[in-house]
Amino acid sequence: MVTKIRRPELGSITLSAIVSVYLLAITNNSFWTHAAIYFDHSRLSLLSFGAAMTLATFAGMMLVSAKYIMKPVLIFLIVASAAAAYFIDYFGVIIDKDMIGNAAVTTQAEASHLLTGSLVLHLFLYAVVPSLFVVWVKVRHQRVLPKTATTLAIVIPCVLVSGGLIYSDFASVAYVIREHKDLMKRFNPTGPVSAALKYASSTYKERNIAVQPLGTDARQGARVAAAGKPVVVVVVAGETARAMNFSLNGYGRETNPELKSLGAINYTDTTSCGTATAISLPCMFSVYPRNEYTEWKARSTENLVNVLTRAGVSVSWWDNNTGSKGIADLISFASMTNQKNSPLCNNGECLDEIFLGELDKKLTATKSNSVIVLHQLGSHGPSYYLRYPEKFRKFKPDCRTAELMKCSVEEITNAYDNSILYTDHVLASVSRLLEKHQNDISGAMIYMSDHGESLGENGIYLHGAPYAIAPREQTQVPFVTWFSKPYQAAMGVDTSCLAKETDQPKSHDNLFHTVLGMMDVETKVYNRELDAFANCTRQDPPGKSNGSAFQAADTAKDLPAPIVPATIMPGAKAL
Ligand SMILES: [Zn+2]
Repeated sequence: MVTKIRRPELGSITLSAIVSVYLLAITNNSFWTHAAIYFDHSRLSLLSFGAAMTLATFAGMMLVSAKYIMKPVLIFLIVASAAAAYFIDYFGVIIDKDMIGNAAVTTQAEASHLLTGSLVLHLFLYAVVPSLFVVWVKVRHQRVLPKTATTLAIVIPCVLVSGGLIYSDFASVAYVIREHKDLMKRFNPTGPVSAALKYASSTYKERNIAVQPLGTDARQGARVAAAGKPVVVVVVAGETARAMNFSLNGYGRETNPELKSLGAINYTDTTSCGTATAISLPCMFSVYPRNEYTEWKARSTENLVNVLTRAGVSVSWWDNNTGSKGIADLISFASMTNQKNSPLCNNGECLDEIFLGELDKKLTATKSNSVIVLHQLGSHGPSYYLRYPEKFRKFKPDCRTAELMKCSVEEITNAYDNSILYTDHVLASVSRLLEKHQNDISGAMIYMSDHGESLGENGIYLHGAPYAIAPREQTQVPFVTWFSKPYQAAMGVDTSCLAKETDQPKSHDNLFHTVLGMMDVETKVYNRELDAFANCTRQDPPGKSNGSAFQAADTAKDLPAPIVPATIMPGAKAL
């Protein structure tokens, strides 16, 4: 005989209350912990705010408690809250509109690193099991009119009391929410759900964007015309490299041995535009400085690669990451991750050395002034250990899983530092290729990372924190450049002059104007003030020095200046 377990029967009010308690107690760890910190001036304020949030949540659940609507909505809220809580609680990330945007444009390979055993287990325990409970229970629903009356009789007092609690302590609550914009974003389910709605609405608005032309007057100047051979600038758009782990910036471990021995020029104080690729990358190539930048402006205005193209520069974008975020829509674009048979590639991802063979071929064939953008995979987490080959596994033991919480901070840092060591090798290799072809081209390399990374400092991992509260780990980025001798001579760049200015603050605002300057592009949209190299670059072709901004070149006809060793901040030491 089979004993049938009877489905429990609950009223819709009881189920609303159970789910409210579940969401508040189980999926809001980070919200309550931060509320406790932010309200530390008054325990009474915290209690009153907590009570107001609890009543508001219950009122919200009651509003969706109608027959046929209730179960699907509750399940959706439970799954959304449980999934968001995983990333908020374990990685310390905040799920705002930009983070949803990052998730929406991510590649399968990138997403697969986040689909770990712990995530599956977490979702099973905190999303699937409670959802099955909601499916299983029988809900008693009243008829429409009595149901409406009961709902209003509960919701109205809840809203009034909740509002009254907030109102009675308005100064304190308003202060905390204004000063700590992350707090309400941490609240499940409204934080991630409203972020997703905001993202959907902005994507909808942008669907028929008309892109405005930029730099229609752009043309190449006299220096590049007199260069005698093609001028080639390789722009390396880095990924997730943070400045403080570069030994060129004084990090206690030697993570930049190759760039150091090449005498690359390193800027020690450079800030990013955003804390995630989807913001930083378009911002780096945009004419707008960070304080004026919006996603809308970037998408509706042409960018650096278009201005270069208008000036007659041949521009290519090679991508070993998740695409150019619309920047390279109008120029030659090649994805490196398509090279499935290369030993450098695995599961749709390739090591950054994938660029080098192609670059060698391209430089052999280059007959015109060119800019080649290399969009790296760099140090993209959480699978840092997949970002470098065995040969660069210098710092051990290294964390060899995407589940960072299973590794110690030391293991995570070791893996991350190995990825930086590998980026050092890739950047130096790009420079060496430009040097190898220097009889035929005048080449230079400029590198900036898109944003940094948190490696567990204050319990925060990965990146994408709202800029206003983002830690330095996520906003201080490396900025390195290298010039071949023919480039220095043709373009009048004085590297010893540059080496003296490397401690001046720089930012992503500089990239647009600096690359235009590097290619000697003349246009109204070029701002010399923001060209990081302008002070140390002669404005006229060799031989013509009248009115030169760079006086040293007047006497030194034979540039280049000697290559100087990279600047190292005090306190730097090799391991
Ligand atoms: Zn990025």
